[in-house]
Amino acid sequence: MTDLKDIKAFAFDVDGIFTDGSVLALDNGDLLRIFNAKDSFSVRTAVMNGFPVAIITGGCSESIISRFNSLGIPASDIYQMSKNKLPDLLHFCKRHNLDISQVIFAGDDVPDVAAIKAAGLGICPKDACVECQEAADVVSDFCGGRRFVRDIVERTLRSQDKWLFDPEQPWGFSYREEVNSAQFKSGRYVE
Ligand SMILES: [Mg+2]
Repeated sequence: MTDLKDIKAFAFDVDGIFTDGSVLALDNGDLLRIFNAKDSFSVRTAVMNGFPVAIITGGCSESIISRFNSLGIPASDIYQMSKNKLPDLLHFCKRHNLDISQVIFAGDDVPDVAAIKAAGLGICPKDACVECQEAADVVSDFCGGRRFVRDIVERTLRSQDKWLFDPEQPWGFSYREEVNSAQFKSGRYVE
């Protein structure tokens, strides 16, 4: 198991990791997910401090792309419809010149087991399936969607003195134009 001080990148499943596993199924086939802002802040902070972050999910939707783009993760690091997570994790490592031993992988269900075993630090939430709990180096005290991501990212960055937030630094991403323009109708832009 790799020490947190030696971790250089993160890779996360989505459902049951960023969420509690719930999806709201709409008539048109879309699935709505609820993300935790504290988890999201930690991912954004990791990206701003130079950590590559992969999203490796069996799910597929535009909202997954737009949500993680808004946290600073490029589309090239978002793997959707991933049945076997390990080849996608290895692809991400190769692209970023990382050894898999330098990467944390977090997953919560059977398709995540191989990647949990192969990663430098394999972790799962405390409500993960039995197979993940047996495979993981660490079973978190937190449940998916309930600060699980925040806890592991914050502890990793703190161990490297990289839990740093610079309010002067631009976000490094932009929302869709119509969302972005909403800021000009509010706050410091309105008399
Ligand atoms: Mg999952």
